[in-house]
Amino acid sequence: MASSSSPTQPSFNFVYQPDGSESGWVEARTHCDHLGSVSSDLTHIPIPNTPCNRCQHPSENWLCLCCKEVLCSRFVNKHMLEHFQQTNHCLALSYSDLSVWCFSCDAYLDAQVISSLRPVYETAYILKFGEAPPLRSEV
Ligand SMILES: [Zn+2]
Ligand SMILES: [Zn+2]
Ligand SMILES: [Zn+2]
Repeated sequence: MASSSSPTQPSFNFVYQPDGSESGWVEARTHCDHLGSVSSDLTHIPIPNTPCNRCQHPSENWLCLCCKEVLCSRFVNKHMLEHFQQTNHCLALSYSDLSVWCFSCDAYLDAQVISSLRPVYETAYILKFGEAPPLRSEV
């Protein structure tokens, strides 16, 4: 019954995945244990182009969500990172893309989902773009 004319099928194309994890995609967390250290008044925050408090770097700085200091990123003079190392203030909002980073968790946090971060995200968004952020359909 076997026919010698059957075409040679290529063998299955196995994709090597070291530990089953996806590629470099980093998903923002929806919870972090350090949210208790966030300032209770985040309705009044510095404007997004506030210079770094230490080196006066003019833009794309980070806002410390614990004491509202504005400090530059790890790609400039690392003053936000230094601030975390000195004070243990681990939560910072990026004025360049409005993402929230937790230095202790070493992870991004989803500021639109975490209720204690959403107000400051919205405030920063309005300061930066002059309008309220678009509502996410799945919320
Ligand atoms: Zn700086
Ligand atoms: Zn701070
Ligand atoms: Zn954390």
